Amino acid sequence: MRRALVLAALLLFGGVAAASQTTLTGAEGHPRFRLPLRLHVASFGDAGLDEAAARAVDDWNALAREVLATSVFATVVRAQDAQIVVRVEPPAASGLMGVTEVESDGGIIRLPVRIAIVAPQPRGQVNRDLVLYQVVAHELGHALGLAHAADPRSLMCCASGQVNLDDPATREAYLAARRRPDVRSVSAQLTEHYRRIWGQR
Ligand SMILES: [Zn+2]
Repeated sequence: MRRALVLAALLLFGGVAAASQTTLTGAEGHPRFRLPLRLHVASFGDAGLDEAAARAVDDWNALAREVLATSVFATVVRAQDAQIVVRVEPPAASGLMGVTEVESDGGIIRLPVRIAIVAPQPRGQVNRDLVLYQVVAHELGHALGLAHAADPRSLMCCASGQVNLDDPATREAYLAARRRPDVRSVSAQLTEHYRRIWGQR
């Protein structure tokens, strides 16, 4: 059994892509028959934030229907019925905004997958709803088994040590993507990930 604590690198808006830690290898995923996964997202106690989280789920489904021919998430009302459980946590001293715990056996992700999200404060030019959208969408990507990407424009950015934010062009691409987070930036990664995983079984 492998256990991976996946921490979102969302100390980002200050421009520091630190604290990204993942031991996802890219070999972890869900069997096709599991999809769509039953998902419960706790309320953030704010209509705008709840709407942003729901939009992240909808956008994953729209992308997955296109590239995997199935939705990946089906929202359920009760957390105990869910295979992916998103809970809300108070701000942590670490500054991390999202944590996904992924355990796997032989590459098959164990259920339930638990995601903890900290409701964001406004940061810079990016509003709270947008920050939350990004954190939830990023962590849902980990719940699907996606590791960090080396592309600064990707929602799953950034793979540790593979993105040089001291380079001005890279940094600008990275910040632009944070201002306009887009689940579609993961299209190729999602396609390739499940082509590989489903192709082996
Ligand atoms: Zn992450």
